[in-house]
Amino acid sequence: MTDYRVLDEQSMTQILARYRQACHQRKRYLEETCEHLSKREAMALKEFRRRQRDPTKAHNDLWTAWSNYRKKQTSGVTGRLVKQALRDFLEELQNGMCCYCQRPLVNIAHAKPIEHVLPRVDFIQYTFHFWNLAVACHDCNQLKRAAVWANEDKRNVELYPRPAEFTEMYHPRFHRFAEHVRFIRVQTNEHIISIYIGITAQGRHLCLNLLKKLAAREIVLNSNPELRQALEVINAHATARQDALPSALEAFQLALADSTSALIESAGA
Ligand SMILES: [Zn+2]
Repeated sequence: MTDYRVLDEQSMTQILARYRQACHQRKRYLEETCEHLSKREAMALKEFRRRQRDPTKAHNDLWTAWSNYRKKQTSGVTGRLVKQALRDFLEELQNGMCCYCQRPLVNIAHAKPIEHVLPRVDFIQYTFHFWNLAVACHDCNQLKRAAVWANEDKRNVELYPRPAEFTEMYHPRFHRFAEHVRFIRVQTNEHIISIYIGITAQGRHLCLNLLKKLAAREIVLNSNPELRQALEVINAHATARQDALPSALEAFQLALADSTSALIESAGA
């Protein structure tokens, strides 16, 4: 018997219906946007089948290409606008919190990327799948990257797994955070410390694979204001540029998270 709930069919239908009324900021584009999204899903499935037939073929990143999608000058349905409406919808659904760490999302678009729960590198077929998308904070998105948390049986299938099938990992759209992770946040004048304790298999998995790293990173950054400020400045500038700097920065932040996790683990041992 499970001691947690998953999103039920009825709620799924209701949420999807609400999204269809909010998928574009302007009412007159709603229908066109729904069609556009169906086409994108079909494209992702086609790309998936192409890869199944020939895995050696070059991979197309449909998601990144989508950001630049613009059919014709007069059309209001562009990749950027649809993505923006999707982000707004998901953010509201998540009460303005990151889907993984439950910290408030900062009000800058690049600071709240749309996260693929099953990463699009390995699950191309779900690139545009409504239930595979959530809004994460920059830190969680960066720390999780393309890590695959799902069991092997979820790979290479065309239909998105049902909510009850996610027993090995926390799924932010199907699970309720409070039923899986206990989250304690302590704030003083000098420090903010987040403590995450997994209370189910999924919650423990999330803590081990992401939240522990995040909490460690937070402790190090809070105890070192100069480092924190430097990172904020670099982030603000680097995300706007499409050159080598963002990847170098990501590698640096990842190394920072890994080494702080190791440091805290050895201190606690
Ligand atoms: Zn987060």
